[in-house]
Amino acid sequence: MAKRALLTGVTGQDGAYLSQFLLGKGYEVCGIIRRSSHRGVEDHRLRFLGVADKVTLLDGDLGDLSSLVRIVKDVQPDEIYNLGAQSFVASSWRQPILTANITGVGVTNMLEAMRAERPAARFYQASSSEMYGRIQEPVQNEDTPFYPRSPYAVAKLYGHWITVNYRESFGFHASSGILFNHESPLRGIEFVTRKVTDGVARIKLGKAKELRLGNIDAKRDWGHARDYVKAMWLMLQQDKPDDYVVATGRTTTVRDMCRIAFDYAGLDMDKHVVIDPAFYRPAEVDILLGDPSKATKKLGWTPETSLEDMIREMLDADLERVKAGKL
Ligand code: NDP
Ligand code: GDP
Repeated sequence: MAKRALLTGVTGQDGAYLSQFLLGKGYEVCGIIRRSSHRGVEDHRLRFLGVADKVTLLDGDLGDLSSLVRIVKDVQPDEIYNLGAQSFVASSWRQPILTANITGVGVTNMLEAMRAERPAARFYQASSSEMYGRIQEPVQNEDTPFYPRSPYAVAKLYGHWITVNYRESFGFHASSGILFNHESPLRGIEFVTRKVTDGVARIKLGKAKELRLGNIDAKRDWGHARDYVKAMWLMLQQDKPDDYVVATGRTTTVRDMCRIAFDYAGLDMDKHVVIDPAFYRPAEVDILLGDPSKATKKLGWTPETSLEDMIREMLDADLERVKAGKL
């Protein structure tokens, strides 16, 4: 019998790559989708990867417990991946309560649905390196104390601890993946890597002259989403649930990441980048650098894609998209 997976956030970047990965492993994949008046566009990432027809989409919302209970009852999943969230840090200052309700309490809603209808399922929580915020150690691992710096990170910290708590309280097979930033051609366009590759593509094709950015001194540990979804799956294949850092172990400034993209396009970054304080954040996470050695040792996981290769892949995809006049 094929294993059955239920994904929240199936229409997002990670949901698309994880669906593709699980289908490749012979899973039946079901995903929760928010009802929208824009039907027809919301599965564009699944279509980009050629898997939209193979994923069963079910109407629900992380803020609506009754929808989650009904879906878990109907699907009876073996594995639940909770990827759904208000996931953009900058928006979390503009919508802090929504972020708390969906990114934070939404995790409890999903766990409660599982507790009511399928307590034997295995559960994955999409935790975030943003929880380290104002870093307490130069290299962050599973034992590094947290210091969240945004309403998003505070909500993620709640989601992380409620996952740990349900594991300890009810014996759930619930794991929390503390994933550092991961990107791809399917990354939301407001995140800095994708904003850069989209911006460079527009400049290259003569559709824009400048790229406005905020704090380009910030440093991130960037990996590829395609590599990172494998780590999620590996966590749920272990006999015991646990928490794992997933990272590359290399940190790069936004400036240097940006330069990779401009250089690849044969453009001079200094002629096009404009620093715009509108993109500064009320509180910044200056630097993140993860130590993935536990994931490597226990899961046998290592990142496969370099930052340079990833940025080139993203830029190629954006050049094609902008050329074709697609959104
Ligand atoms: P995306 O923003 O691409 O996807 C978020 C998903 O959540 C979308 O499918 C979105 O649906 C869904 N969603 C939003 N609100 C709700 C709601 N109320 N009910 C149900 N679903 C909802 O994020 P990523 O794929 O990049 O990230 C996946 C998860 O991993 C997120 O939880 C994110 O916070 C976390 N994470 C991501 C990192 C990264 O670098 N990418 C790093 C660490 C953690 P819709 O399409 O309708 O908007
Ligand atoms: P985050 O780490 O989840 O917040 O991912 P982002 O890609 O949104 O931001 C990464 C870093 O890039 C943060 O430190 C931002 O302050 C910085 N940054 C600088 N300019 C920009 C910009 O124009 N947009 C975004 N999203 N981030 C920017």
